[in-house]
Amino acid sequence: MDAFITALTAVVGPRYILSGDAPRDSYDHGWLPQYHGRSHAVVRPGSTDEVAGVLALANDHTVPIIPMGGNTGLTGATFPDPQTPAVILSLDRMDKILEIKPEAQVMRVQAGAILDTVRAAADEHNLTFPLVFGARGSCRIGGNLATNAGGSNVLRYGNARDLCLGLTVVLADGRVMDLNSELRKDNTGYDLKHLFIGSEGTLGVITEAILRLAPKPRDFATAMIAMDDIDAALSLLNRLNRASGGAVEAFELMPQNYCALLPRALPALRPVFTPVPAFTILVELAMTRENDDLLSLLEEELAQAIEQEQVSDAVIAQNESQRAEMWQRRESTFEVADLRGATLDTDIALPLDKVAEFLQRAEHDTRHISPQVEPIYVAHLGDGNVHYSLWNPPEMSKDREALVEAIEDLVADLGGSFSAEHGIGLMKRSTMARRKDPIALEVMHGLKRQLDPKGIMNPGKLLPDAP
Ligand SMILES: Cc1cc2nc3c(=O)[nH]c(=O)nc-3n(C[C@H](O)[C@H](O)[C@H](O)COP(=O)(O)OP(=O)(O)OC[C@H]3O[C@@H](n4cnc5c(N)ncnc54)[C@H](O)[C@@H]3O)c2cc1C
Repeated sequence: MDAFITALTAVVGPRYILSGDAPRDSYDHGWLPQYHGRSHAVVRPGSTDEVAGVLALANDHTVPIIPMGGNTGLTGATFPDPQTPAVILSLDRMDKILEIKPEAQVMRVQAGAILDTVRAAADEHNLTFPLVFGARGSCRIGGNLATNAGGSNVLRYGNARDLCLGLTVVLADGRVMDLNSELRKDNTGYDLKHLFIGSEGTLGVITEAILRLAPKPRDFATAMIAMDDIDAALSLLNRLNRASGGAVEAFELMPQNYCALLPRALPALRPVFTPVPAFTILVELAMTRENDDLLSLLEEELAQAIEQEQVSDAVIAQNESQRAEMWQRRESTFEVADLRGATLDTDIALPLDKVAEFLQRAEHDTRHISPQVEPIYVAHLGDGNVHYSLWNPPEMSKDREALVEAIEDLVADLGGSFSAEHGIGLMKRSTMARRKDPIALEVMHGLKRQLDPKGIMNPGKLLPDAP
């Protein structure tokens, strides 16, 4: 390892290597407290060539490498396990917007560009890069692509995979693969960029990306909607999409216990509905034309929905600050969860018409195992993604595995996925071993062996141990 660090100095310069006692807590400590580790070193290359130099050396010396963007991932995928010393390769210096072509609606960026910076750069050209979620001020495009991130606009624009046209990737042995196409159509064999999207740093390092932009919405209509049950939620979503020509950008679900705790998490905000309804939905419509009277459209549709008892009440944001407040409520999940202590967290995807059934059956099945258990969740309801968590009273810790199994069984039974948008990392490796189709796992292991024969790329993450 020491010989490797010495050789590394010639590639990136001593200033960009943190080793020995050099402070590097922000790299070693992930977002979740259980994933605090210790790296052998952190290297911060400044170009694709330097990344290639680092990986070629690491491959020669068989040194494990953990690629890192903003370190906001929620599955321990950047955890530096002190038991197997690894070097973190941070993309934080490679944060430039390289080119924007407004007419072609594409943007070329370095992988370390922060999501908010990318969004602001698109905004200057009256365009949008629609990927958006709570960590947007810290997470980086390379990390967004490596985890195939989702967020709240997926129902309209798709996830990170759908927003990427091309990539530059450095392979484990230091070769640079140019997949940097701007093309919307390119049927020249296997689409290899998709292999690296969602690969969580286990196959190579993404150093550049070509992103697909969309016209910037200029008119928003945002509302909080109260519902007594969510059986009618899907028809409400379809109704709003039909009425607005597909303008629904977000359709987010918050249950009663979540909203009831919001005043404690956000003391400055008053409750939206009193009493707190069984379900609150945050809906947002967006149009690229100004003065499209989107507010009246939403008002009219919601008034009819109330009349038809599809919805029990609704409040529409009248200005930008009310809109921001509504989003603040939805994005306070960590603050709300913290009010009651540890939770058992999941990130699951379900067919759109199975979410209501899942919520009912999950409560029943988990209470059967641990009667005191209390579900607390939020959902990107418009794309079937539920962040279903359980509060963890002391007696639940012994039931933890059984509870996870029960939720996973139910998800499988309903045709869902045990990871919707956060990925696998360390957290879901054992689930991967249990639940992923064995042939799919065999093919994944084959790809890993082909692209990373020495197993240096983020070892111990995503894939279970090879059989
Ligand atoms: C408050 C909060 C809210 C969140 N909300 C959402 C949400 O709504 N939707 C969602 O999808 N996620 C969400 N996340 C999770 C997280 O922000 C995303 O997974 C994000 O895409 C990770 O980006 P990052 O740059 O922080 O990646 P990191 O955490 O640094 O890395 C994540 C993975 O990607 C790999 N990686 C990073 N950069 C590269 C690269 N250049 N090349 C190859 N591999 C790389 C790493 O090795 C690791 O496996 C949230 C996180 C927080 C803290």
